Amino acid sequence: MRGLVKFARGDGFVEVREVEDLPPDANQVKIEVKASGICGSDLHVYHDDINYLIRPPVVIGHEFSGVIVEKGSEIGSEVQIGDRVTAEPSGYTCGTCRYCKSGYYNLCSERKVIGYWFNGSFARYCNATFIHKLPDNVTFHAGAVTELLACAVHGVVEQTGISAGDFVVVTGPGPLGILSALVAMAEGGVVTLCGISSDAHRVRLAEELGVHHTLNVEEFDAIQHVRDLTGGYGADVVLECSGVPSAAHMALEMVRKRGKYTQIGLFCRPIEIDFEQIAYKEIKVSGSISQRRPAWERALDLMKRGAVPTDRLISHEFPLHEWQRAFEMFERKEGVKLLLLPE
Ligand SMILES: [Zn+2]
Ligand SMILES: [Zn+2]
Repeated sequence: MRGLVKFARGDGFVEVREVEDLPPDANQVKIEVKASGICGSDLHVYHDDINYLIRPPVVIGHEFSGVIVEKGSEIGSEVQIGDRVTAEPSGYTCGTCRYCKSGYYNLCSERKVIGYWFNGSFARYCNATFIHKLPDNVTFHAGAVTELLACAVHGVVEQTGISAGDFVVVTGPGPLGILSALVAMAEGGVVTLCGISSDAHRVRLAEELGVHHTLNVEEFDAIQHVRDLTGGYGADVVLECSGVPSAAHMALEMVRKRGKYTQIGLFCRPIEIDFEQIAYKEIKVSGSISQRRPAWERALDLMKRGAVPTDRLISHEFPLHEWQRAFEMFERKEGVKLLLLPE
């Protein structure tokens, strides 16, 4: 089968290649991929600047949906061939460390991920270990966005915690920023989404999806604006989803004393930050990486109930051989969620 392969370490070294179509391991299922999303981290695999274990040659891609076509020998009858599913990117976790045992296997030091270490979903078939059935009313396209929504649920619900009426600022209107805004709204937050001029189409989509306020930080004094909207206090919660240092500085200025700051976007390098503000303002700071099973279950439930319409984020789809065009578009921040379809 043909797959999009990272074939060597370093910047680039990606091409569509013929790859072996292997049977699933005993604890895996083989999934015929129906749709697979391009994630920001796929660009980081391309550029080889992410802090995850990469083992080339490896098929890229980890946000996907499809149909089970083969079961490993240890898979029970609760999973059937023909089931419509999506899968977690965790391909291996040790199962014995403190994090695995407490359900925080996203933090397992031994964790190996589909699309980095194990062959991923930019191919016709993908073998996966941690699977979830798609609700009947969730399409394959929408289902391909489950992983990203689970990241937002983990960051917003599990790591931050929002109370009804909280004034929430989200910085960075990329797909993860928009989903984090929608989850914050589902939790009862009043959400302001901040972006720059080149984000206009993404901000427009967020407005169509009901996000309460949007702010172009290049046109407005966003910090002052947030103070004006909050009686001078600042935001109860900031969710930094851009991974851009200037946005992190701004978010730290925007959050009120004793407010919450969660870092969800990745900078992919050390940045300078006025850490002392955390002391002076008594801010609760947390981080968020990947997701865990309860976040997946909640994400699928939000999709089933229509609370977060993930399909609305999908702006473009490309056949696999047009991957380069799609990656370049995504890197230029055109569109919102881009899908690659197997061929
Ligand atoms: Zn991803
Ligand atoms: Zn572990």
